[in-house]
Amino acid sequence: MKFLLDAHTHTIASGHAYNTLYEMIQRAADIGLELIGITEHAPAMPGTCGEFYFRNLRAIDREYLQEKFGIEVLIGAELNIIDRNGGVDLNELGMEYLDVVIASMHLPCLKSGTKQENTQAAIAAIQNPDVDILGHPDDGRYPMDYEPIVRAAKQYGKLLEVNNSSLQPNGYRMNARENYKIMLEYCKKYEQPIVVNSDAHFVTAVGNHQYAEQVLKEVQFPEELVLNGSLEQFFSYTRKYKKKK
Ligand SMILES: [Zn+2]
Ligand SMILES: [Zn+2]
Repeated sequence: MKFLLDAHTHTIASGHAYNTLYEMIQRAADIGLELIGITEHAPAMPGTCGEFYFRNLRAIDREYLQEKFGIEVLIGAELNIIDRNGGVDLNELGMEYLDVVIASMHLPCLKSGTKQENTQAAIAAIQNPDVDILGHPDDGRYPMDYEPIVRAAKQYGKLLEVNNSSLQPNGYRMNARENYKIMLEYCKKYEQPIVVNSDAHFVTAVGNHQYAEQVLKEVQFPEELVLNGSLEQFFSYTRKYKKKK
């Protein structure tokens, strides 16, 4: 399995991550990645940057970064799913300069409901045209039905994430491993692609995919459905590419 990209990382701007933009990109370049996504937590997360941070993202010169570090840099966001109707915590102005958009459930921003309610929240986020990737759909604290979620991702052309941080032995999300095994079986059944991301909050986690790779191997997940091996394929799911079309 090839891992050329890591599309989900955080910098000090997120308020509970500990390195700068340059440090995160440099680390990605040093370990041989060809693409890094910097995806700060959106405003509903306590301590993260505000809406104006996102509104001003055109200030980041992507070409300069690419020249300086020799890898592709996507500047995006990890939005909070805030209700069961596809609601997120950035408006159109805040999203204008995002290259990639992840949407995830976080306890400070969304109360868990019944299995049916959580499933509905995930599907509504998938249906939101601004969302590219459903982030860490693995947390047992939000029990979900995986079959309809995988089918919705397939239908709406969205990516599902396998989040390496969730799978760390000291990870705080519940039953991530068991939940991914269920989700990945449905991904196989419906030929739904996934992307492995580190969700790094510190440089040494950038590009770390070891726990995710273990689970993928255990369920004999087909390599062609892991988009980390092809920038071009991954790119076709991102907002940056869709906007160009
Ligand atoms: Zn998250
Ligand atoms: Zn994250």
